[in-house]
Amino acid sequence: MNRRRSLSVFLCGLAATPGCRRQPDPSAASGEPAVVPAPAPPPVKDPEGLGLVPVDIDPAFEIRTITGLRPFRPAGFMVRREERDGKILVHNYGHGGGGMTLSWGSSHLATRQVESVSGVSCAVIGGGVMGLSTARLLQLRGAKVTLYTDQLPPETTSNVAGAQCWPVSVFDSSGRTPEFEAQYIEAAHFSFRYFQRLVSPRWGVRWGVRWIPNYYLGDRAQGSNWIDGPGGVLHDMQVGFKDFGPGEHIFPSTHARRFYTMMIEPSVYLPALLGEVQGAGAAIDIRRFANAEEVLRLPEQVIFNCTGLGARELFNDQELIPIKGQLSILMPQPQVNYNLISGPFYMFPRADGVVLGGTFNRNQWDLTPEDSVKKWVLEGQRAVFEQLRKNQQEFLAKK
Ligand SMILES: Cc1cc2nc3c(=O)[nH]c(=O)nc-3n(C[C@H](O)[C@H](O)[C@H](O)COP(=O)(O)OP(=O)(O)OC[C@H]3O[C@@H](n4cnc5c(N)ncnc54)[C@H](O)[C@@H]3O)c2cc1C
Repeated sequence: MNRRRSLSVFLCGLAATPGCRRQPDPSAASGEPAVVPAPAPPPVKDPEGLGLVPVDIDPAFEIRTITGLRPFRPAGFMVRREERDGKILVHNYGHGGGGMTLSWGSSHLATRQVESVSGVSCAVIGGGVMGLSTARLLQLRGAKVTLYTDQLPPETTSNVAGAQCWPVSVFDSSGRTPEFEAQYIEAAHFSFRYFQRLVSPRWGVRWGVRWIPNYYLGDRAQGSNWIDGPGGVLHDMQVGFKDFGPGEHIFPSTHARRFYTMMIEPSVYLPALLGEVQGAGAAIDIRRFANAEEVLRLPEQVIFNCTGLGARELFNDQELIPIKGQLSILMPQPQVNYNLISGPFYMFPRADGVVLGGTFNRNQWDLTPEDSVKKWVLEGQRAVFEQLRKNQQEFLAKK
């Protein structure tokens, strides 16, 4: 399950996505009479999406293109306690494309591995979202925290995130175990409740967290999977969930699914969280660890490893791999107030710009942005929003 998997089919007519071809009509080849599709139901008076402002995808308004490496484990993220050289070492890393979303929940599971931390000096390694959330939860339980990291916001992978608060692209379906499933469900729900306390009005001032509708487009009814849709393990978090069939919506697809999620602005949220951790007395030590032995030589008895992709080398976890993502950001368009996910593409409107993404390249370490990918994303997204605008105009003209 990932953001891009949803419904690439409808994009075949819109963007030349690799491997995407129109299929011949099988009934024509067999000589049987072509099946006449049932007439579309009469359009509703006020179809979903009619009032949305389409994004203006104009390359002249691109402000930056960035890349990041999602720290991905096919079997899912690692929360585990071990004892080494007389120290307690708790791992909390490998959250793939859902680390911003899972941060509070996974850090809750990690800090729970140590019964009592009140008055205890704890080391947290890593200054991304996972290290900062772990540090904060430890402080709230009375621990004295020192944060060791080679990078802090805005230089972490966490700053590159979208960041839609919906934990997908976190594991491979074939790789998950019942133990991981329980961990994932608990972490997702804990985060869902925790982030709600940080929501503020008006583009999420203070924490940069706000509610927003998401639209997932497709040419087939979307049904359910293990995570979402009726019966999915996170369906209770799909606020305002509704499927729209033909004639009920204005999007350039046959079907559209809507649900609300929170949206996190990394450029607001991460400095706010860092400030909170520092304000509560955490010491910050900027340094890079070359190996696990160096980590274990720290003076603290309790150590939390929140190093994201860094854990691969530091703790020799060969299951941890990068999934490269590239995002193009356009000038902010504050009138756009919804997320749109169509085929491989996603659009998230943020205060610092309109985020256009959709690439997931496994095992790619090279962070260089690629022009061909940028062009593919911009052209694909422009086709979607031009068609949305056209549909809206045609509907209004007929009214
Ligand atoms: C393009 C893209 C889009 C994304 N979109 C979303 C989204 O919409 N929603 C969502 O929830 N998530 C999203 N993510 C995923 C999310 O960004 C990650 O899962 C999350 O940032 C991981 O956080 P982290 O703290 O574990 O890692 P990081 O942010 O990478 O932090 C790791 C920290 O450890 C430190 N470190 C590492 N190695 C060492 C070492 N040897 N010594 C000292 N310090 C070390 C680093 O300096 C850094 O401070 C996206 C990611 C990308 C790349």
